[in-house]
Amino acid sequence: MVAPRLVLVLGDQLTLSIAALKAADMDRDIVVMAEVAAETGYVAHHPKKIALVLSAMRKFAARLQEDGWRVCYTRLDDEDNAGSIGGELLRRAEEHGAKEVLATEPGEWRLIEALRDHPLTLHIQQDDRFICSHKEFEDWAEGRKSLRMEYFYREMRRKTGLLMEGDDPAGGAWNFDSDNRKSPPKGLEGPEPPRFEPDEVVRQVLDLVEARFSENFGKLRPFRFATDPEEAEKALDHFIAHALPCFGDYQDAMVRGQDLLFHSLLSPYMNVGLLDPLEVCRRVEAAWQAGDVPINAAEGFIRQIIGWREYVRGIYFLEGPDYTSRNALDHTRKLPALYWGGETEMRCLRECVDATRREAYAHHIQRLMITGNFALLAGVDPGEVHEWYLEVYADAYEWVEAPNTIGMSQFADGGIIASKPYVSSGNYIAKMSDYCKSCAYGVTVKTGEGACPFNLLYWHFLIRHRERFEDNPRMAQMYRTWERMDAEKRETVLAEAEAFLERMEAGEVV
Ligand SMILES: Cc1cc2nc3c(=O)[nH]c(=O)nc-3n(C[C@H](O)[C@H](O)[C@H](O)COP(=O)(O)OP(=O)(O)OC[C@H]3O[C@@H](n4cnc5c(N)ncnc54)[C@H](O)[C@@H]3O)c2cc1C
Ligand code: SF4
Repeated sequence: MVAPRLVLVLGDQLTLSIAALKAADMDRDIVVMAEVAAETGYVAHHPKKIALVLSAMRKFAARLQEDGWRVCYTRLDDEDNAGSIGGELLRRAEEHGAKEVLATEPGEWRLIEALRDHPLTLHIQQDDRFICSHKEFEDWAEGRKSLRMEYFYREMRRKTGLLMEGDDPAGGAWNFDSDNRKSPPKGLEGPEPPRFEPDEVVRQVLDLVEARFSENFGKLRPFRFATDPEEAEKALDHFIAHALPCFGDYQDAMVRGQDLLFHSLLSPYMNVGLLDPLEVCRRVEAAWQAGDVPINAAEGFIRQIIGWREYVRGIYFLEGPDYTSRNALDHTRKLPALYWGGETEMRCLRECVDATRREAYAHHIQRLMITGNFALLAGVDPGEVHEWYLEVYADAYEWVEAPNTIGMSQFADGGIIASKPYVSSGNYIAKMSDYCKSCAYGVTVKTGEGACPFNLLYWHFLIRHRERFEDNPRMAQMYRTWERMDAEKRETVLAEAEAFLERMEAGEVV
């Protein structure tokens, strides 16, 4: 009899058409799935993220069995659990006399390297759930002076045919951002997000997570994530019907008490494999074709997926394993305690950290322009910032989190992703949110009692990095504004920024 091969399916590869399963033979091969301490603990993930992944894994394994696969499934609390993916493969290989493993490429260098060094013979397939392969991205990047997302995105539009009319973009433009990003009017409310009641499988997982991970940052209950493809599909239907029409208009808006506004909360499902990203985009395109949503909403949404999502993955694999340790701006400050729920007077940070703790979610502008912006202005070590984002969000996987944090948010890659750092003073936050109205600081106060810390740190950042950014055409105007400021005021701003950072470092509530 021919020896069986093991078919490795990881917790973020829960798609029936995943490459390793496609390459396998149901009559010969054995699927291996394992909940292991090495994966639940390489960072202290948000308990909701662990619960989502383990629940979805258990349901996926049951589905495979129903379909006729032989599945060896290891639960986290099984006595003979080897504790790591590599260890589980060895244990199952011995059990079944297998010598070879079919796997789909993992989404982070850490695991890719562990599999590469594995004593069994591994056949690693490319993950074809993405539109752009590594080779295609490398070819696109080859010889380019700068790797701007917008041009990559156009290639993906052409490749997929999404929102295309022949060779031209539908609606006459590639990008409708000029219609997007409106300030939130008073009382703006998004639709109620769909919530999924935990079934028996999820309830068991919740008990396990509660018993093992209660020390991790984040609230486990109430847990309302979708955990199988049918529920995820319902979440998609709900988004298209209720939130998508306003997605573009209020994409950058932030409103107290409104965690989602018009965002989709689909990233956790796409990232583990419960939803197919291309299918999601086709559904959104169909809603536009049916006249149900405006072009700025459909285009803006599709760009996030076939543009940004594919692009950041391309950068992660192009740049290699050292990407996460880059620190182009030499920032070394420790991540302040307020990121872990420590007290703060800054309303914007308090709101975003609180949503993160409760829901393992914050939308893009909260991640980029509140928590990310503050860490960058304050000069926090990007490695610490990276670890925080990897720990606290339900959708966090290194291939997507690291380029967003190290590159887009912290400029620690020296400008591969962002042509200028995403920094702002309080002004931007006041324009795009209602946070400042109930803040202890005054957003229009530039110095002295009650001055908004973002106002002080903004200038501190620009002056700290003057040599690097002064000649950047997109930033020159700010340096000119600084020069026009009264010399005494400039001194005061920098001294107050320093004093603020010292107080924060000393553990005072700021
Ligand atoms: C510092 C930082 C860290 C981030 N970490 C992650 C992460 O760990 N995992 C993750 O999936 N996204 C991450 N993002 C990107 C983005 O913030 C999330 O994808 C988005 O907030 C998810 O919420 P949503 O599904 O409601 O998104 P929506 O606003 O509804 O957007 C639709 C979809 O577009 C995709 N998307 C949007 N923006 C991006 C982007 N910049 N990069 C990649 N995909 C994008 C997502 O798949 C998302 O589901 C990060 C952004 C920043 C600034
Ligand atoms: S005043 Fe400053 S610190 Fe307060 S919410 Fe506005 S931007 Fe944030």
